[in-house]
This record gives sequence, structure tokens and C-alpha cells, in this order.
Amino acid sequence: MGRRFFVGGNFKMNGSISSVKEIVNNLNGAKLDPNTEVVVAPSAIHLLLVRESLKKEIAVAAQNIYYKKNGAFTGELSVEQLNDAGIAWTLLGHSERRVSMAEVAESNEFLAEKAKAALAGGVGVIFCCGESLEIRKENKTKEHVLSQLKSAASAIKDWSKVVIAYEPIWAIGTGEVASPEQAQEVHADIRAWLKSDVSPEAAENTRIIYGGSVSEKNCVELAKKPDIDGFLVGGASLKPAFVDIINAKS
Ligand code: PEP
Repeated sequence: MGRRFFVGGNFKMNGSISSVKEIVNNLNGAKLDPNTEVVVAPSAIHLLLVRESLKKEIAVAAQNIYYKKNGAFTGELSVEQLNDAGIAWTLLGHSERRVSMAEVAESNEFLAEKAKAALAGGVGVIFCCGESLEIRKENKTKEHVLSQLKSAASAIKDWSKVVIAYEPIWAIGTGEVASPEQAQEVHADIRAWLKSDVSPEAAENTRIIYGGSVSEKNCVELAKKPDIDGFLVGGASLKPAFVDIINAKS
């Protein structure tokens, strides 16, 4: 059996109760490709609203978690709380948390702890990686992306609940999408690394999705590439056209 196409929507710090309800209503009423697994990641304040109102075929993700159990960690969300609320996934390592929000600057080691905690608690991980424009210009994309993944791999025993999101920073929110060839090249490098450093099964079965200015206009061409198993969508996940991206393979 092939890898199931996977489309995630990252709402980031966007949306009001009424606009999020509108997105939910749109998804609930849309005809979605049943072969595509869909996960949406609203802001923490909207997680419960979305989980309670969205059809059950669509899973819900947190945008972040803390790796400790419940306790004195003001402002954080635990894996146990996600489980209690029916939130089955979490994003981890988005570049906005690794790099753009310099005050946060999540390190590879910190993210490995989070991945370990999420998976131990049965929460799936959409693990983000990707290079800056400077790194790409220095021809160090592969080395950089694999170093981000290697650190997380030490904490991952079961890859069946992990989706790798390759998101070049220069393409996130910029309208400058990676070409299908650029994305495919990095996805193939990641898959080759999974095969050599993790296992042939992990290489065969792990979804590697692309993120960075994916839209209804570019998704079909990207989806044709053999190692692009879906998308992580930011801005366009807030719009009705998200449905077209979910159905990119139909
Ligand atoms: C993202 O936030 O993960 C993302 C890819 O954003 P956008 O689609 O807006 O570039």
C-alpha cells in the first residue's frame, strides 16, 4: 500500500471565533478526497471549538506542545491535555518557532524532547525542517535539513506517527513557492537518509510533505512528484481554496 496523501492546515496566530467557524463550516460541507488525510492546526484558543465542530474525518493538531507532564509551566500545553481534548497531532519545529521568533529560538535538542513526549503520549508529530535562503545559496540545504532531522531521529522509535514537513524558510508566507523539482530534490534526499539511517520501512512509509506558499494554483504540479506526499499549508488554509489543495491528487 502506498503512502496516504497528507494535507495539513496551519492557521498560525490567525482567526476569530467567527472566522474559524466559517472555515469549519466550509470544510464540513466540502467534498474531500477520501484518500487524503487532513489535519488542521488552529491557534490554541480555538482547538476545542474546532475539535467539537469539525467532522471527525479531519483531525486536529496543536501548533506546539511542551514536553513536560502537567504542572507549573505557565502558558504551555501538555500531551495529556491534547489527549483529553481529542487533539491527535502536533506541529513541531516550525521555522517561525525555530528562527523567526528569535525570542523563542527552539533548538534541535528541545524539539527532540518534544517529539519524544508527543509520541510517548500517542500524539502524532508533523515535524518541520527547512533552510534559509542563505543556506540554500551556500549549497548547504541537504546538510542543514538532515541535521535538523538527525537530532529528532534520536528521539523517535516509531515513525508511523511522524510526518516530515519540508518547509524552505524563503518560501513560507512569501508567495515564492519552491519549484516541484527543488522540492522533489530535498524530499528525495530526506527519503534516502531515512533509508540509510533509520530503516527501509521508515523510508517507504513516512510521509514527507512540502510547505511554503502552497496554493490551489501550484499544488497539482507539486503533488505529481514521487516523493511529495502532501502539503503543510499556511495562508491558503484559511481560505476556501484549501479544499482544492486537499483534493490536489483527485
Ligand atoms: C506554514 O506556515 O507552514 C506555511 C507553509 O505557510 P504558507 O503556506 O503561508 O507559506
